[in-house]
Amino acid sequence: MTGNSRKVVIIGGGLSGLSAAFYVRKYYKEAGIKPEIVLVERSKSLGGKIETLHKDGFVIEKGPDSFLARKTAMSDLARELELDHELVTTNPEAKKTYIVQRDKLHPMPAGLVLGIPTELKPFLASGLVSFGGKMRAMLDYVLPPRRSTDDESLGDLIERRLGTEVLENMTEPLLAGIYAGDMRKISLQATFPQFGEVERKYGSLIRGMTTGRKPVETHTGTKKSAFLTFRQGLQSLVHGLIHELQDVELRTGTAVLSITKLQQKGNQDVPNDAGDSCRYEVVLDQGERLQADDIYVTAPNFAAADLLRPHVDVAALEAVNYVSVANVVLAFPKSEIVSEYDGSGFLVPRKEGRNITACTWTSTKWLHTSPDDKVLLRCYVGRSGDEQNVGLPDEALTELVRKDLRELMGITATPLFTEITRLTHSMPQYPVGHPDAIARLRNELGTALPGVYAFGAGYDGIGMPDCIKHAKLTAETAAAALGR
Ligand code: FAD
Repeated sequence: MTGNSRKVVIIGGGLSGLSAAFYVRKYYKEAGIKPEIVLVERSKSLGGKIETLHKDGFVIEKGPDSFLARKTAMSDLARELELDHELVTTNPEAKKTYIVQRDKLHPMPAGLVLGIPTELKPFLASGLVSFGGKMRAMLDYVLPPRRSTDDESLGDLIERRLGTEVLENMTEPLLAGIYAGDMRKISLQATFPQFGEVERKYGSLIRGMTTGRKPVETHTGTKKSAFLTFRQGLQSLVHGLIHELQDVELRTGTAVLSITKLQQKGNQDVPNDAGDSCRYEVVLDQGERLQADDIYVTAPNFAAADLLRPHVDVAALEAVNYVSVANVVLAFPKSEIVSEYDGSGFLVPRKEGRNITACTWTSTKWLHTSPDDKVLLRCYVGRSGDEQNVGLPDEALTELVRKDLRELMGITATPLFTEITRLTHSMPQYPVGHPDAIARLRNELGTALPGVYAFGAGYDGIGMPDCIKHAKLTAETAAAALGR
């Protein structure tokens, strides 16, 4: 630190790193500190998982495609970047989502909130669960609640309250769409802690979710759609951030190799393993060395573990497995598609044994994405324990996807084009006990490496709004401590 300026290195140029740069600038300045920020990104472009392709009049998302409106951090950031006028909602006519059951598409019953039924009539009328499965789910009203607040898996909670059929046929496909995960392994506390609270408070998930159900509120001037995105694609947000970060040095195509703690001795900084210095040296893969007072580590947990291992116990980072997935986007002339698209797409339960895990009817769900006379479908491949198809050559992968579309939707037309994106090791799986393990890691980090912060999709929430929220919170907290 020189005078009131502070050198900040941000590792990773995905949404977490870019948002961190934005909020470090904002909050450090408000605390009277001038940040000199260098952001280092391994790949040649910024945005991490976010990538939009504009092709033949289509807006195609290669990574994430939208965000939950009720988590306002993303629309707040859009507003700060004066991009909120670009936000668009889902087509109100495309409300239905289908779930595959024995090779047929069944509409998801009305009132299913995060996979839990909150309206009995449509649930009892649904063909997705057998009579026995429905009766088992009704036991939720009378089974005694688990009182312990210890973490358990999301799947264990749902199975315990509502039975195996509801878990496998309704909840798992819906929530697996978010995590590409195995519900019986994913931490409840790290994903939907409110389910545990509801059980303890109301003694029943159905009763509690029915009581607590309220409409989605947004403050974007848009109608109450659950999801939002940007008219020209999510990359608008990345471009908006880059444009705003003119005084930040953005280094792409270079990775951070190590972090060394330095100790001030006279006028020289020298390496120090055990001292209480707060100055660091960050070594880049091209040999360059950057000095830093603060370091924001937003690389995925497996990469963060390599950087932090010499200083702290990184077991909490190593415990987070990253699943590989692929998106296969197919465009068709509307005239050649006979299927009726009256919804946003369908989900495929694991036990159906299909190649695809879900399919979004993108051109119906998001009207801005396609020319009127075309259809755009986005199919997802790969989930925890079932990732082998992700690495197939393009032709073989496309054939598997088209086979499922043929059998489930009767689509035999040849696509105008196919766009495949493989996202290897991209979906973090929070294991049971994850929040406590991360809290311990951060405690240790605070003592061993003061001024070094670790966050991003592998820590506090996988959704883009969660990534922004925690980047903002970290910068705000750090600035407040520095300003004291
Ligand atoms: P990343 O985007 O992974 O960025 C981390 C960056 O660190 C990378 O760019 C990487 O190259 C860089 N890096 C790694 N090591 C180093 C190093 N040593 N030095 C320098 N740089 C390094 N979320 C939603 O809200 N809605 C969705 O619809 C949605 N859909 C998704 C679909 C898919 C297929 C995937 C994979 C994710 C989806 N998500 C969605 C989740 C969301 O996209 C991510 O959680 C979020 O974008 C992660 O941002 P991040 O910055 O934390 O991580």
